[in-house]
Amino acid sequence: MTSSHAGGSDDALVAASDLPGVPDEFQRLWTPHRMAYIQAGPEPLKHDCPFCAAPSMSDEDALIVHRGVHAYVLLNLFPYNSGHLLVCPYRHVGLYDEATAEEIDEISRLTQTAMRTLRETARCHGFNIGMNQGEVAGAGVAAHLHQHVVPRWATDANFFPIIAKTKALPQLLGEVRQSLADAWPA
Ligand SMILES: [Zn+2]
Repeated sequence: MTSSHAGGSDDALVAASDLPGVPDEFQRLWTPHRMAYIQAGPEPLKHDCPFCAAPSMSDEDALIVHRGVHAYVLLNLFPYNSGHLLVCPYRHVGLYDEATAEEIDEISRLTQTAMRTLRETARCHGFNIGMNQGEVAGAGVAAHLHQHVVPRWATDANFFPIIAKTKALPQLLGEVRQSLADAWPA
């Protein structure tokens, strides 16, 4: 892990007091991965439907963990927690009761596999699972059905979301995607 120290790709951690610079009262969270959001602009989801666009991209670029027949699994670019997965049908359909029996069946089975894979890789203690149906209900991309699978840990509650509208996420999306894709059953 290099995220816990400021610079350098060397293995050894260097004490801050050994480096040049004048300390101040601020703690620093190093977030180089933020560049993906900064460069994309404030509203990267405005172009097309992101859930229709994702399957034509590489797994790495689209953060896809698994591709099924009628549905697929990807990481949420705006996670509530590290490992926050979304299970979507390939078809652009907004409401749960508009999905076909085949889509519902596969979304359900992929949700179960997502739970098992997250439990195995992330050692989480619980989950929030669900769908927001319609913008009034909080759906960010209301036009394309997606089931949230959010891993929860006993110690994951922190003060950041309350005081700073910020969530601390201990692992980068690319690393999370790789570990989940590797652990996903064939
Ligand atoms: Zn769509």
